[in-house]
Amino acid sequence: MTQAAGNRLRVLVIEDQHDIAANIWDFLERRGHEVDHCADGVSGLARAMRGDVDVVVLDLGLPRMDGLDLCRRLREAGNGVPILMLTARDTLEDKLRGFAEGADDYLVKPFAMRELEARIHAVRPHRAPSGGVPAFAGLTYDPRTMTAERDARRIPLTRLQGSLLAVLLQEAPRIVPHARLIDTAWGAEGGDIAALQTQVYELRALVDKPFAQPLIHTVRGIGYRLASPA
Ligand code: CA
Repeated sequence: MTQAAGNRLRVLVIEDQHDIAANIWDFLERRGHEVDHCADGVSGLARAMRGDVDVVVLDLGLPRMDGLDLCRRLREAGNGVPILMLTARDTLEDKLRGFAEGADDYLVKPFAMRELEARIHAVRPHRAPSGGVPAFAGLTYDPRTMTAERDARRIPLTRLQGSLLAVLLQEAPRIVPHARLIDTAWGAEGGDIAALQTQVYELRALVDKPFAQPLIHTVRGIGYRLASPA
């Protein structure tokens, strides 16, 4: 099955295990995507920095430079390419470290190829909503630069954080249910409440914590909303 032109993605796979890399390559090419591969962190970073990649699939354990280091260096260089990190262990600490270094999502090995593709689609760049950048109570988010702005302070976000904030802004001050936020960020096959809570925690640390009044409010058991400071 091939992709319509708009769904064809250029995917960079940085993975040192040859069998895994070959499986991913074969599957994604059969699905109509364009795949490039690097087997170590140094060449992977150089390839990702060229800027002609839609999504990076990044193994955590790599020779020459590990995945977390690569992720951090990419972000420090101002490169916002969506990163799906592959981890061997399903530990919260690993996930939080990955998110802290700028990964957008993670997948625990072994994984099904269909899930990999669903995650790739969830983190890939989405078209900016028409009608400009939504704003609420001095907070805006521009998906073209993956940057939020609040009280004239610019706040770079990950793809996941940005997609969640964009929906909250579009609907503000209405409540956005958990299911819609999860679907927006991860697609139908992806995330869960725990992953959502982790992302909202990170988002709050960036757009609420440094300011006097929080804008993101929890509606217990239902979802989240943006609300003006009282
Ligand atoms: Ca590895």
